[in-house]
Amino acid sequence: MFILTSSRVVHPDGVRPGAITIRGGKIVDVSDKVPAKPRYSVLDYKYAVISPGVIDVHVHMNEPGREHWEGMETGTAAAAAGGSTTVVDMPLNSNPCTTTAELLKEKMKVAEAKAKVNVGFWGGITPDNAHNDEVLWGMLKAGALGFKSFLAPSGISDFANVSRSDVAGAMHFLLSKGAPFFVHAELVTDVEQAEENPDPRKYSTYLATRPAKFEEDAAHMLIDVLVEEHIPPTRGFFLHIAHLGDAKNIEAFRAVKRRLPLSVETCPHYLLFAAEQIADGDTKFKCAPPLRDEANRRGLLEAVASGDIDIISSDHSPAPADLKETQSGDFLKAWGGISGMQYLLPATWTAVKAAGVDLFQLSQLLSTNPAHLASLQHKGLIAAEMDADIVVWDPEADADTSTTHNRHQHKLSPYTDMKLKGKVLATFVGGHKVFDEKQGVFDGQCGKVLRRKWLDIIRDKKQKNAEL
Ligand SMILES: [Zn+2]
Repeated sequence: MFILTSSRVVHPDGVRPGAITIRGGKIVDVSDKVPAKPRYSVLDYKYAVISPGVIDVHVHMNEPGREHWEGMETGTAAAAAGGSTTVVDMPLNSNPCTTTAELLKEKMKVAEAKAKVNVGFWGGITPDNAHNDEVLWGMLKAGALGFKSFLAPSGISDFANVSRSDVAGAMHFLLSKGAPFFVHAELVTDVEQAEENPDPRKYSTYLATRPAKFEEDAAHMLIDVLVEEHIPPTRGFFLHIAHLGDAKNIEAFRAVKRRLPLSVETCPHYLLFAAEQIADGDTKFKCAPPLRDEANRRGLLEAVASGDIDIISSDHSPAPADLKETQSGDFLKAWGGISGMQYLLPATWTAVKAAGVDLFQLSQLLSTNPAHLASLQHKGLIAAEMDADIVVWDPEADADTSTTHNRHQHKLSPYTDMKLKGKVLATFVGGHKVFDEKQGVFDGQCGKVLRRKWLDIIRDKKQKNAEL
């Protein structure tokens, strides 16, 4: 049993001094100050901020099968060093992708053996299983927190993109179970090339292949599906727009969000970087949807500040240097994915504080709202009965963005050596310290595999008990 205290604790209703008593992995009490004669050891973090641990709902761990891109051990070490206490892994780019209960269980085994922070999983929906409720239910029963689909080609051969009818088909089942549905929202159509043979080392060449129209067409299609299929707001179900890159879509989402179960996510790279600043051949900035221009970046920041964007995740999607085409600098051939899981907290804070977002709202974007989306009922807040998943950090100090401090498998990241505000001092997972600024990431693994207990399962059990 111990007490964490500081003058800036992010409580569920605001930031003020606080003393958090932790026992058995749980927060058992939160008061405004440490008792005069505390019975337990007190860790006094003075003026540092104590926030709920960051919940990164969009990461690609790639294990099993592509652990040479990232792995559970390196990935969760980076999460711990970055103040993330829970990450939720995407069904790709592991090999094979997670599209059945068996494959999901394999991934869970890996996480059980290696994870330093908590790990949850999204199941994958492809044209092969979108209309197969049994397969989807199998993944939920195995503990998936929800699902992910692509409207655009994913770049991975065994994860085909879905059609409108696949989305509509799967949605009714997901709605009935209260499971969220992530969608990579770009609808790819033919694009006319302005030049005959554009230079593939220029970022603008890549950007021209993925215009904002792809995101706008996808947004309209998804809103249409929700309306036409009469999808009401339902507990646990959200159609979740993954990594929004196009600020123009905000207006369309705002117009329907009150009556439709829609949630919107973006990533710090869309809030910090603009197309104009990307040097020729600098493929570490390639991602999809692509980084757009400065006006678009500002538009997204405004949407974060106004509350139109609900969640910020890293979409950590690294690849080895050869696949990132670091030698050739060819944007068209390079793998699209930005490496940044360890920098989610400082990169987001650096971007959003310039737009007037405060520590409380930051914590909603990075912890409270992600916990709500993933139905992690005991996470995302500092309050009695919640899990003791906590980050202690200094928002005024510089984050260490050097490659020596970087715990990702590959060090290539657009955040390397960048001046970012927000230094993580300590990370606690289930009451265990997993990272400390002086000692680094601790050996061993404190992370749990987070399996959602589905209502039907509980109901079935109750019925059985009643019958006995
Ligand atoms: Zn992703």
